[in-house]
Amino acid sequence: MDAISTLQSWLDDASNIVFFTGAGISTESGIPDFRSPGTGLWTKMKPIMFQDFLASQSVRDESWRRKFDNNSTISSAQPNAGHNAIAELSRAGRLRAVITQNIDNLHQDSGLPDDAVIELHGNASYATCLDCGHRFELDELEGRFQRQGTMPDCEHCTGIIKTATISFGQAMPEQAMSRAQQATTDADLFIVVGSSLTVQPAAGFPELAHHLGCRLAILNREETPLDPIADLVLHEEIGQTLAFAVGLNA
Ligand code: NAD
Ligand code: ZN
Repeated sequence: MDAISTLQSWLDDASNIVFFTGAGISTESGIPDFRSPGTGLWTKMKPIMFQDFLASQSVRDESWRRKFDNNSTISSAQPNAGHNAIAELSRAGRLRAVITQNIDNLHQDSGLPDDAVIELHGNASYATCLDCGHRFELDELEGRFQRQGTMPDCEHCTGIIKTATISFGQAMPEQAMSRAQQATTDADLFIVVGSSLTVQPAAGFPELAHHLGCRLAILNREETPLDPIADLVLHEEIGQTLAFAVGLNA
C-alpha cells in the first residue's frame, strides 16, 4: 500500500486522533514559517528573549513595533485545506485534540471548538497583563502605542502587557502542557503536520506517543529528527494530502 492509502486507512480505524501541528500547516494561508530555507522569518530577524523583554522598555517597544508591522499577515489569514480537513474529522467525532505550536488562531477559525485546541506557545491574536492576566485587544493597544510612542503598563495593576504568546526563555503554560500530555496518552493515532520538530519540549509529545505504542505519522515537506521512529512518513504538501486523506477535495 502507498503511504497516502495507509494514512487513509489509519484515519478510518482511529477514533481518538491527535494532531500535532506547527508553522508548516499555515504557510498555505500566507503565514511564513520560521525555518523553511529562504522564506523562514528567522532568515530576517532574531527572536526577542523573554528576559530581555522584561528587563527593558525599549526592547518591549521594539517587540511591539515588530508585532504591529507584521500583524496584518496573521490577522487577515484564513484557514486552508489542511485546517479544514482536521475540522472535518472533528465534526465526525473522531478528533481527540489538536496540539499546536502555532499562535495564529487558524484552527479555531476553521471551526474547531476551543477545548479541542491545545496551544503550547500561546496565541498572538490578543495580549494579556503578565501580572493580573487582564486581556487586551490588539487594536486598542496599537492605538495607545501609536499615540504615546511607547507601550504603557497595565492600568489595573502596573504589570507589563505582552502578546499572549510564549517567548523563548518564558515558562511553558502548565495547563496546556498537562492537557497535551493527557491527549497524547489517550491517542490511538498521532499525526505530526508541518513541524520541523526541533523546538523542545513541544517535540516531546510525538516521542511520548511512540513510546506509548501509538501509531505515529509525520507529514512534513522536509525530514525531521523523528522520521526514524515514525510508523509512517510523508514528505508531501500538507493541504492537498490531508484533504485527500479525509475525502475532501483540496
Ligand atoms: P518550523 O518553521 O520549524 O517548521 C515548519 C516545517 O513545515 C518545515 O520543516 C517545513 O518544511 C514544513 N512546511 C512548511 N510549509 C509546508 C507545506 N505547505 N507542506 C508541507 N510541509 C511544509 O515550525 P515549527 O516546528 O512549528 O516551530 C516553529 C515555532 O514557530 C513554533 O514554536 C511556533 O510557535 C512558531 N511559529 C508559528 C507560526 C504560526 O502560528 N503560523 C508561524 C511561524 C512560527
Ligand atoms: Zn495587570
